[in-house]
Amino acid sequence: MESPISQYLGTVHREISTLDEGQPSHSTPVLAEGDPDGFGIAIATVDGHVYEVGDAGQEFTIQSISKALSYAIALEDHGFGFVDERIDVEPSGDAFNEISLQTNGRPDNPLINAGAIATTALIDPGREGRAARILEAYGRFAGRELHVDEASHRQESRYGDRNRAMGYLMKSFGIIEGDVEQALDDYFLQCSISVTARDLALVAATLANNGVNPVTGVRAATPAVNARVLSVMSTCGMYDDSGHWMTEVGIPAKSGVGGGIIAVLSGEMGLAVYSPPLDEHGSSVRGVETCRRLAGDLQLHFAHAT
Ligand code: GLN
Repeated sequence: MESPISQYLGTVHREISTLDEGQPSHSTPVLAEGDPDGFGIAIATVDGHVYEVGDAGQEFTIQSISKALSYAIALEDHGFGFVDERIDVEPSGDAFNEISLQTNGRPDNPLINAGAIATTALIDPGREGRAARILEAYGRFAGRELHVDEASHRQESRYGDRNRAMGYLMKSFGIIEGDVEQALDDYFLQCSISVTARDLALVAATLANNGVNPVTGVRAATPAVNARVLSVMSTCGMYDDSGHWMTEVGIPAKSGVGGGIIAVLSGEMGLAVYSPPLDEHGSSVRGVETCRRLAGDLQLHFAHAT
């Protein structure tokens, strides 16, 4: 017997499947091959229940959702003061790939490309190397071992000259120190980590659960870092659509050009959607609509008084 939550998600999935606007990203061939009909929704609660519908087990690249997780790692490595000096927490109002730096070269926030590249450069390689640390940390959020889509990694680099330009510009300002090519390669790698909507729902549920994965019980972020990540997602997570998003949906969220979106309801649940066709901001059309629908039906907007 299907649970009422699964039945409800099935209805939402069926209705939103008819939305056929937008196109998969064309910034790399792997992204351009994203299935326009692929559509999955997953919810994970902070007490560890997972509900899935549609293509919630389909793997795709995490892309910009990675930025929130790498920000957590850099904050754990260096603390707030050190990271804040190099990466601000102001919404830029610009598109995700805008070359928007402050006059001292500091990016506005860690969730646009410039800020994300600077963030990755701050991740301590430790003994095992930065890539291994990134995979391990993301795996703690998702609750399973993740891997890199190698074709995507190669293509992000091959078609990554705009990101490369931002990296070198920030190096010239001293915001990025050390090997900028390595930092860029690690950024391309983190964008290419394969995930499913189910994985992302668990990532979101971990953020909703004060940094502890609700299924494995493993801590992925300290409470202070977890809270900071959510704060920045609230103001900057949906790029140049962040203001509208907060007004209409009212839940901290992060999208990626692979077609993924996560939304976090603190203390309650994480929501994730996969659907490759994107809107003009680079967010999944069906993903945005699913979040809007759930926020309305379930009264999830932060300003809603019960
Ligand atoms: N890899 C993409 C880039 O760097 C990620 C962008 C995104 O998901 N918005 O351009």
